[in-house]
Amino acid sequence: MGSQAAKLPPHVLIFPLPIQGHVNSMLRLAELLCLAELHVTFIVSEFCYNRLLKHTNVESRFACYPGFSFQTISDGLPEDHPRSGERFVDIMPALRRVTAPLFKQMMIEKKWFASSTQRAITCIIADGVLSFAADFVQENRIPLVYFRTASAIYFWASFRMPALIEAGEIPFKGNDMDLMVKSVPGMEDVIRRRDLPSFCRVDDLNETTFQFIKNETQQSPRAQAFILNTFEDLEGPVLSHIRKHLPRLYTIGPNHFHLTSRLAAATKTENSISSGSLWEEDRSCLAWLDSQPTRSVIYASFGSITVVTREQLLEFWYGLVNSGQRFLWVIRPNSIIGADNASRPIPNELEEGTKERGYMVDWAPQQEVLNHPSIGGFLTHSGWNSTLESMVAGVPMICWPYFGDQTINSRYVSEVWKIGLDMKDTCDRVIIEKMVRDLMDERKDEFLRRADEMAKLARKAVDEGGSSYTNLDSLVDCIKSMVI
Ligand code: UDP
Repeated sequence: MGSQAAKLPPHVLIFPLPIQGHVNSMLRLAELLCLAELHVTFIVSEFCYNRLLKHTNVESRFACYPGFSFQTISDGLPEDHPRSGERFVDIMPALRRVTAPLFKQMMIEKKWFASSTQRAITCIIADGVLSFAADFVQENRIPLVYFRTASAIYFWASFRMPALIEAGEIPFKGNDMDLMVKSVPGMEDVIRRRDLPSFCRVDDLNETTFQFIKNETQQSPRAQAFILNTFEDLEGPVLSHIRKHLPRLYTIGPNHFHLTSRLAAATKTENSISSGSLWEEDRSCLAWLDSQPTRSVIYASFGSITVVTREQLLEFWYGLVNSGQRFLWVIRPNSIIGADNASRPIPNELEEGTKERGYMVDWAPQQEVLNHPSIGGFLTHSGWNSTLESMVAGVPMICWPYFGDQTINSRYVSEVWKIGLDMKDTCDRVIIEKMVRDLMDERKDEFLRRADEMAKLARKAVDEGGSSYTNLDSLVDCIKSMVI
């Protein structure tokens, strides 16, 4: 290593799974590391990069960090592939088949940008499900850090999959759904089989996803350090189980708010919300929210991958309208199975119910929406980013989990953290109406009080001296120590 390189900061390569929830979470980590004056190269799929350029201020946002650059790579899927719903799983084999060899080639050809202004890669932070990246960097003796962007409870349940299989608890059938799970220490009194990650079910068991998550998760101890987007007060008991296997575990979340808070401290207050949206945000809903009473609106959104049938859409519709509450509803393009997605397939007779009390958009500036004083509840698919964003904003949730980690997140929201209701495995207008009334009216005070307590804990974690704040500093020190 030359003397010039010795003066340069560490250079971290960040490589997320190229889907919305992973890309925006890892972009926030990238910015947090840039604020700590590390150099960062962010590898992202061409598909995501083009959308980021189109729909966000990502270019200008990162322009003030001279050590930051993007590098694009194919995700192996054609441009017009939906990357959602049942076809979402296509991305895993495509990454292995196409992206993995391209990544290897890129690593060799680029020699990782060793130059007079930026040193060669000193460590890679790979998404915790991209072991092909880990294979290459380990062969080449580059230090590896894993970042799993989902909850610790999901990671821990996935880590225990071999024990669950051994005990005959997974895969399981419909009539075993309500048996309590015994093979995940720390969760014995909390989760039923139906709350386990969705791919553990025989019914919608997708063998590819089941094997993929099991195998990828088992490889976690290969990394020298491990990052989770959570905080100690939220998932402490489960984190202590994980630490027995992964002692260098850094919890730095909720990372969207951590970033906001560090930017404020660095007096970079402009654009303090980093959305990383892959769809165009319809900001007109903020003006609509401005004209609604305080805590009167339920926000409904199911993230970037969930799709619904036309029947489910109508159940939600009737449930929301019949509840008598105001609602803001995100219906993402291409999110209704079998519908002509050019226009929203809401039957004409229902339009009136919308005009009276509702507002619909294709995609919302979610963090700003959740922090708007008119929002009193969130009907969510329980994606981890959405869950954390709701927690920080102190907004109680009704959870309608779709797949993956969402089934376990929703259980903890209702039974452990007690900041919402779990509507798993049902989609019925009467139940939806009842839950919306409970959350927004009859049990409103109780839920808002709990949600407010949780928001305080989340915010405390990223304040100076809080657990996530301290852990981020320790992570930066750890990365610095990896410079050989
Ligand atoms: N999101 C958004 N606008 C929307 C819906 C979602 O900005 O209308 C963002 C949301 O703030 C979150 C991400 O998309 O950061 C969704 O991630 P999550 O982990 O909740 O779910 P996924 O999309 O991975 O299922």
